[in-house]
Amino acid sequence: MLKGTAVMNLTEYGRAVHAEMAALLCCARVGVSPAGGALYCTTFPCHNCTKHIVAAGLRQVFYVEPYPKSLAEELHGDAVVVTTGEASEPTSGKVVFRPSTGAGPRRFMDLFSMTVSTGRPMDCKGAVLSK
Ligand SMILES: [Zn+2]
Repeated sequence: MLKGTAVMNLTEYGRAVHAEMAALLCCARVGVSPAGGALYCTTFPCHNCTKHIVAAGLRQVFYVEPYPKSLAEELHGDAVVVTTGEASEPTSGKVVFRPSTGAGPRRFMDLFSMTVSTGRPMDCKGAVLSK
């Protein structure tokens, strides 16, 4: 009945499990409490994962890339605070989402292939070659 409708694109109804939820489920499987811990992820969590992060009792989330479509701060601002990364920012006991440095998924092709994301070739030393 719902096949072919946009409803199945909603994260709440699909079977896909985001990495954040998979990490929390992994904690349950191996018997490690995530309470008070930190989560490191490549992309800023979506609002659905955020509610699970809050419920699991995590204290911090470090992410590399923003995710503009996430409504985490808008929907869960009572429980999370998104900082600019400065340790001195007030957090009011909320789960702190901090930007981190690292290589996001989109940079992998630039770092580990012989072409840059624009398709231009590069040599083995990383120099971009002209076409
Ligand atoms: Zn998610």
